[in-house]
Amino acid sequence: MEGNSTLLELRAILENATVGILFSKNRHLVRANPLCAQMFGYTAEEMVGLTGRTLYPSDEIYESVGREAGPALAAGQPFRAELDMVRKDGSCFRCRLSAKAVNPLRPQAGTIWIMEDVTADYQTEQLVRNALAEHQMIFDNAAVGIMYVEDRMVVRCNRKLEEIFGYGTGEMLGLSTRQLHPSQESFDDLGNRARDPIRRGEVFSTECGARRKDGRCFWVRITGHRAPHAGERFDVVWIFEDVTQRREAEEALRRAKDELEQRVLERTNELTVTNQQLQKEIFERVQAEQRIWHVAHHDALTGLPNRTLLHDRLEQALAQALRDNHRVGVMFLDLDRFKSINDTLGHPVGDELLKQVAGRIEAAVRAVDTVSRLGGDEFIVILRELAGPDDAVLVAEKIVQTLAMPINAVGHELCVTPSIGISIFPDDGLEALQLMKNADTAMYHAKARGRNNFQFFAPRMNEEATRFFRLEHQLRHALDVGELVLHYQPQLRITETAVCGFEALVRWQHPESGLMPPAEFVPVAEETGLILPLGEWVLGEALRQNRLWQEAGYPQLPVSVNLSPRQFRQRGLVELVRCLLEDTGQPARLLELEITETSLMHDVDEALDTLRELSAMGVRLAIDDFGIGYSSLNHLKRFPVHRLKIDRSFVSDLGEDWGDAAIVSAIVSLARALNLETLAEGVESSAQVQTLLSYGCTRFQGNYFSVPLPASEAELLFRSPAKVA
Ligand code: C2E
Ligand code: MG
Ligand code: MG
Repeated sequence: MEGNSTLLELRAILENATVGILFSKNRHLVRANPLCAQMFGYTAEEMVGLTGRTLYPSDEIYESVGREAGPALAAGQPFRAELDMVRKDGSCFRCRLSAKAVNPLRPQAGTIWIMEDVTADYQTEQLVRNALAEHQMIFDNAAVGIMYVEDRMVVRCNRKLEEIFGYGTGEMLGLSTRQLHPSQESFDDLGNRARDPIRRGEVFSTECGARRKDGRCFWVRITGHRAPHAGERFDVVWIFEDVTQRREAEEALRRAKDELEQRVLERTNELTVTNQQLQKEIFERVQAEQRIWHVAHHDALTGLPNRTLLHDRLEQALAQALRDNHRVGVMFLDLDRFKSINDTLGHPVGDELLKQVAGRIEAAVRAVDTVSRLGGDEFIVILRELAGPDDAVLVAEKIVQTLAMPINAVGHELCVTPSIGISIFPDDGLEALQLMKNADTAMYHAKARGRNNFQFFAPRMNEEATRFFRLEHQLRHALDVGELVLHYQPQLRITETAVCGFEALVRWQHPESGLMPPAEFVPVAEETGLILPLGEWVLGEALRQNRLWQEAGYPQLPVSVNLSPRQFRQRGLVELVRCLLEDTGQPARLLELEITETSLMHDVDEALDTLRELSAMGVRLAIDDFGIGYSSLNHLKRFPVHRLKIDRSFVSDLGEDWGDAAIVSAIVSLARALNLETLAEGVESSAQVQTLLSYGCTRFQGNYFSVPLPASEAELLFRSPAKVA
């Protein structure tokens, strides 16, 4: 009974066991519990009698299990294995088995197999294994170094880390992380910085220096975080990236940048200096250009606009006047007798005078007006925005007034007066040149009217100008065809009561106007230069006539010939005189040249040279019209002249004007003191002769004795004794 119950109990155990239980004998299945049958997809009954091989996937596996299990079982040991087994339907499952021989000494007694379907566990384990393998692969092949640190000791690391730090495989395990730092300070510093964040579970990342196994230092970026499951321990996973190259590149870049910045700075400084220099140069150039422009457009002496600028300004003024319906006045101003001042007192005085005159004119006009100097003593004033000619009158009067006050120039108290000609736009012309020409013409009329006044242009003035040109033309012709004649006026010396010489005076036998006095054409000749051929003819003719007279047996007397300023200054004058004397066979002592004060004072040194040469030749020299010019006594004494001809203006008023008498008396005394002869011109009465005699003047010329006569009549005077008062 008890045996039966045991059997029942065993059966119950077998049927309810949570593992598969199989009993085999001689490689055949003898019995399987329900779970085992279910595991293999059979019924318990079906399994009975099957060969063991049926449950294995292949003969090889079956054999190998047999080979492995055999010795263990024979030794009474349990045999354990885990392997794939085959179900009835051919599918496999993972099976963990353990076997034990019923009686190790008798294998044929059979074997008990305990089987467990561990497919699910196996698969999970497989997955974990795969995942681990993958992780390991990633770990091993990562491009960054990774290490697992426990208590500052490397417990795990990948190949890359070893490479980075120059260690061989496995060499780093157990290494203190201190070894990876270049210094204790660096080690402590990192620890201090990383500890708290990592403890808090944050990711800590920084770049710092690191040391290779060979001691070489390099740069790494490290990122650390707390290892999972580290619990209370301070285990950290560190990831290392070698950033040396990047750091070096950055460093190089920074140095390059610094260098570049330094260079830029230097270059900028250079540029600043260059720029400043350039600015300076530009400034200087602009200034130079302005100076050049100023010089090109202004008169050097007075600083007034010159002709060029004047034209611009006038054009502007005219254009504006046309738009605004205004008038413009053009004023031509010439200083009376300025030349004599210049000649007598010298250029520095003349220059100073011009400057002061310029200043006064400028002060007399409005700011919109332009005062310009054309050269010499000629000024032009543009008067803008005139309502009518009256406005111009006011300005002209103002200028005359302002110049009336004496000017002190280099110690000389001088009085200058202007002659002003005015033309008005649009009345007297629409164009600048026309207006200037007309103002010029008007100015000449102001001079002709006795100077120190102003004249408006009038069309008849141009007619006179036209007459001037016609006269010039005719005079040229007259020279060619011989319409000029010489008249001779005797000169007497009372003490000898005889003619002592003749003055040759030119006349023009004009085909229409009759005999024309020199006053009407000599100025034209002087102005146009015709005076040179004319003068040469006069000189030659006078010498020829004198020779004819000598040949006719008349006494040898000197002939006087007038030289105009231009003639006196002409080049080759001395040579010309010498030639003509030779041509006519006349001795030099029979020729007297009359020169005005103005001629002599123009350029004193040159005049002195000419006079000396002529005098050295033996030619006599007389100063004509003496007393009305500006002779400097200082120069006078140096000139080798023989005679002063007292101007007839002093003689004509003798007896009426005490001033003139005093002048004549003074001239005679002066001449005596300088050892010069005097001759009074224009003597018309015996009273004048008496007065002149009383002053000690004994030489005369004038209509009282004889008017100038043609040669044929003059020669009669050689014989007839002179009329004596
Ligand atoms: P000048 O050399 O002073 O000549 C004297 C002028 O006084 C002459 O005038 C003469 O006719 C004039 N005259 C002489 N006696 C009397 C008188 O009693 N009463 C008045 N009222 N006048 C008298 P003319 O011939 O008309 O000459 C005028 C000026 O023309 C001359 O002044 C001289 O400067 C210039 N001239 C004359 N002939 C020549 C010449 O051949 N060459 C140059 N360059 N100038 C000349
Ligand atoms: Mg004369
Ligand atoms: Mg004279």
